[in-house]
Amino acid sequence: MAEIIIASKNKGKISEIKKILSLKEVELLDLSELSFSSSIEESGITFRENALIKAETVFSLYKIPVIADDSGLSVWCLGGKPGVFSARFAGPDASDEGNNRLLLEKLQGIPDEERTAWFCCAAIFYHSTGKYFVSEGKVDGEITQSPVGKNGFGYDPIFFIPEYGKTMAQLSAHEKNRISHRALAFRGLKKYIEEYLRKLS
Ligand code: IMP
Repeated sequence: MAEIIIASKNKGKISEIKKILSLKEVELLDLSELSFSSSIEESGITFRENALIKAETVFSLYKIPVIADDSGLSVWCLGGKPGVFSARFAGPDASDEGNNRLLLEKLQGIPDEERTAWFCCAAIFYHSTGKYFVSEGKVDGEITQSPVGKNGFGYDPIFFIPEYGKTMAQLSAHEKNRISHRALAFRGLKKYIEEYLRKLS
């Protein structure tokens, strides 16, 4: 059976990626299973650059096709921050709660209509040296005044989607995996990976 590595240790993210891709006849491994201990420096200035850095680093080590993504939240009134710094907004080992707290602090006193934000995801399938396919997804929303909802991870409890009248953390996993930035990006990737696997068999 073909093997593909998901270049992540984030359990929430890995579970979403597996559900969205729902690939048959593939063993999906992740970095925790591979006891990958080095840290990858995400030095890119875009989600796409960082996704490529992760994919290239992991592919060069294992020589197995790699799925990588980079994603994050951008807030309009903060000039697009935290953006590529989303995971480490409140510091190098920041927790989701710490990041959310800091963001809400920075937006204190900002009215609802100026709390526009968006999640972006760049997803990549890297299958041989220098050969890859990238797909991107974006979802628009607003930052709430306080956290609401228990599902998902990261900034989900403070990201309100007007179209659904709910925060991302109030959506079921099934609903999130239909509409999220990651869902949009990975849906594009799924087609490419399926075609790649068809050619292998
Ligand atoms: P990375 O893509 O693993 O570098 O991390 C991106 C960071 O952006 C995560 O640690 C979260 O803080 C945030 N993020 C990315 N996608 C989501 C999401 O679907 N919900 C909530 N936060 C997210």
